[in-house]
Amino acid sequence: MPDGPDSDPGTGLPTATVVLKPKRARPFFGRHPWVLDSAVLRLDGEPAEGDVVDLATHDGSFVARGLWNPASRIRVRLYAFDAATQLDAAFWRTRLEAAVGLRRTLGLDDRTGGCRLVNSEGDSLSGLIVDRYGEHLAVQVTAAALVPRLEMISDILESLLAPRGILLRGADRGLAKLEGLHLPDRVIRGTPPAGPIFVSERGLRFGVDLAEGQKTGYYLDQRDNRQAAAAYARGRRVLDMFCYSGGFAVSCAAGGARSVLAVDSSAKATTLAKANADLNGAANVTVETSDAFEKLDALSAAGERFGMVILDPPKFARSRASLDDALRAYHRINRVAVDLLEPGGILVTCSCSGSVPRDDFLQMLAGVAQRSGRPIQLLECRGAAPDHPVSASCLEGEYLKCVIARVA
Ligand code: SAH
Repeated sequence: MPDGPDSDPGTGLPTATVVLKPKRARPFFGRHPWVLDSAVLRLDGEPAEGDVVDLATHDGSFVARGLWNPASRIRVRLYAFDAATQLDAAFWRTRLEAAVGLRRTLGLDDRTGGCRLVNSEGDSLSGLIVDRYGEHLAVQVTAAALVPRLEMISDILESLLAPRGILLRGADRGLAKLEGLHLPDRVIRGTPPAGPIFVSERGLRFGVDLAEGQKTGYYLDQRDNRQAAAAYARGRRVLDMFCYSGGFAVSCAAGGARSVLAVDSSAKATTLAKANADLNGAANVTVETSDAFEKLDALSAAGERFGMVILDPPKFARSRASLDDALRAYHRINRVAVDLLEPGGILVTCSCSGSVPRDDFLQMLAGVAQRSGRPIQLLECRGAAPDHPVSASCLEGEYLKCVIARVA
């Protein structure tokens, strides 16, 4: 981790070649951007952290070009797959312009809303996340090799978007550790917002805590799923479990829910949820700070019934190794949620664990149907909103599952 001033991104020319073990080049010919240490045969040259390196087959053919990170299991992140492309400032500008251009195409360039402008591998910018909230940008770096390029990236973002301020937000702790990254939150350009930023989402308004909120302040990935869920809410008693700042709860109230109970174990989250309910005049939203597992059991024991239950828990699996434990936890909460649903009730069940495959998540629901004796009809199998594109070459980026189902 360089701790000096953010340095010059350099010429973009390679200083070394990373040579792959025999038979390990295939994923990279397929444009997968992560070269793990286990695939590396040897290093020709002495690159410093963050240097541009070429990737070559064991017999010397060029494969791709990327950035060197000796501290990470991902030794090289690849950004270009032809030898003619230099990873210089013009290159990063072109990539960032393309990412911003896509959001314009998606109709998400409205300055009053929130939007993910850069989604790491999904925008061929592995390790970089940029979210826009109104006039401010929140940047998250999950690749140590991008740290010396932060000044350059900020220059480009300023010239493309003229934000009022750019804030650097620390990466998810687990990821930061894997990457050997220790980046404190700080304002890198302009001025921070004076308090919460308010973003609009389909006519609703949500306060976003850019400085201390979860993720970069808000769950932009669930934007369209909140809308989809709200379409089933009319007349129903809704339970929004793991509500964070109340995105689903407030959307369902606006969609005509009879009442909404929103629960989160974090007092900071429920304070935000309450404020967002008030901001939108959603008087029938009740917010409670409780552990979800305990609350689900208590509601079930009390014989409570809901017309709709939303489950949007945090990541249950950090890796493939914890997949079975995660699936058991998903089974447990979904089983209780089904018990809480009246006949014909709607289950909105999510998983943001990238290491839980979609099929396994659906199989988990089959298990719940079997155990509860209640048929579950899948109505919508959804993912993240389109400002969170996934690269077909890096399906690890497809983490979010949101299933809307009817329970008989
Ligand atoms: N649905 C939200 C995002 C939820 S993120 C939205 O659309 O904005 C997951 C939430 O689960 C976080 O707010 C976290 O505080 C909460 N959480 C984590 N563990 C929990 C637990 N055991 N019980 C209740 N909430 C929990």
